[in-house]
Amino acid sequence: MIRLDDEIDGRREELIAAVQRLVRIRSVADEEADGKPYGKGVADCLDEALKMCREMGFETVNMDYRCGWCEYGGGEEMVAVLGHLDVVPEGEGWDFPPYDAVLSDGKIFGRGTIDDKGPAAASLIALKAIKEAGIPLKRRVRLIFGCSEETGALDMDHYLENGGEIPVMGFTPDAEYPLINGEKGIVVETYEKPLSADGDYSIIGIRGGMAWNITPAHAEAVIKTPEDFRPDDLPEKVKAERRDGAWVISAEGKAVHAQHPEQGENAIGRLFKYLCTLPFSGDTADAIGFIADKIGMDTTGALLGCDLYDEISGHTSLNMGVCEADGRKISVTLNYRYPVTHEYEECQPVVEREFRDRGWKRVYDMHKPKLYIPEDAGLVKSLLSVYREYTGDMSAPRSIGGGTYAKAVPNILAFGPVFPGDEVVEHMPNEFISVDRLMENAKIIAAAIVMLAGE
Ligand SMILES: [Zn+2]
Repeated sequence: MIRLDDEIDGRREELIAAVQRLVRIRSVADEEADGKPYGKGVADCLDEALKMCREMGFETVNMDYRCGWCEYGGGEEMVAVLGHLDVVPEGEGWDFPPYDAVLSDGKIFGRGTIDDKGPAAASLIALKAIKEAGIPLKRRVRLIFGCSEETGALDMDHYLENGGEIPVMGFTPDAEYPLINGEKGIVVETYEKPLSADGDYSIIGIRGGMAWNITPAHAEAVIKTPEDFRPDDLPEKVKAERRDGAWVISAEGKAVHAQHPEQGENAIGRLFKYLCTLPFSGDTADAIGFIADKIGMDTTGALLGCDLYDEISGHTSLNMGVCEADGRKISVTLNYRYPVTHEYEECQPVVEREFRDRGWKRVYDMHKPKLYIPEDAGLVKSLLSVYREYTGDMSAPRSIGGGTYAKAVPNILAFGPVFPGDEVVEHMPNEFISVDRLMENAKIIAAAIVMLAGE
């Protein structure tokens, strides 16, 4: 393995300065303006990154301010290192100004330091070290700077749709070490069904959940009932109160990320489990019964028939994230994630058929296919061997339920920048990267590039 540790140790100040130049530009996505699809801040940051590349002697391309790259080396095939320059809004609670990139106690503080400007700058310094050391490469190396990772990764869709070259292999330092070689397929769908308001019991309104990717912590239904209705025998975590001549039934749950819904409790499911004990009629009874019986508090899709399983990534995870109804219609938004060795075709048609057979229509859908590169593949072995050489940590690569930036471009995996056990600071106030970790990342990235692209 070729290590460039001395080359990189000599560039410590240069790397700190590069991170600071990027962090000092507030690159939060904004409205399109003047041909800058993600706003001025993101575009300015891309300009700055490409300027740094040129200062180091690399050729650059700006693809419509959606992404840009620099390239080094020759050869038919290309190895990509994918980072991103956009950041999430700074939010509240900072001890340092979020865009000053203050160096304090061996750490650089600021929005984007770990996610993902620090790793992007480390990649650049790594490539410069490779160039200055004159390491021969048989493949070209392209450092891609994406500009909308935090807002749906449409930057890379644009890249692929406009003839952006597909790497033969590569990695994105935008998640964690040792390596993520499996990411579940992610499906989001909204189904809708008309309701009729006849019968003694009817729905006036239902509202539950905040987003498809969070287990709902609260849900409530406002229902019309006969005068003598009294809600007794309420189950645990379900409450009823009289409001404006109607009953409000509310249920509590526990919010967690939808990649591990089994750790939460679904308030919408809990609410419907109770509602289905009331004597609704017609369409309303059917809709309530369907949600209670086919989804309820289930988190694997077993009741809907979409529970798939493999040893690598476990069961399908199902989250009913949002439910809304007025007197005339009801809608539910589901997020289900299928295991990495299974296919969309094995689960989606089953789910849609269940809904359709009961009068529901799909009104929204999104699918991010699964990603899986087996442990015995060359890319996985190469990246792991570099990580292991540097850290001595023999942990196995991981499969996860979440999606990383690696899904945005074929043939790449998420590799770094966060080490096992390190504090999770991305998207938080006081986001930071320690200079030591930054340097370790630059060294690992340099060795990984040489491993993938070197002769
Ligand atoms: Zn990121």
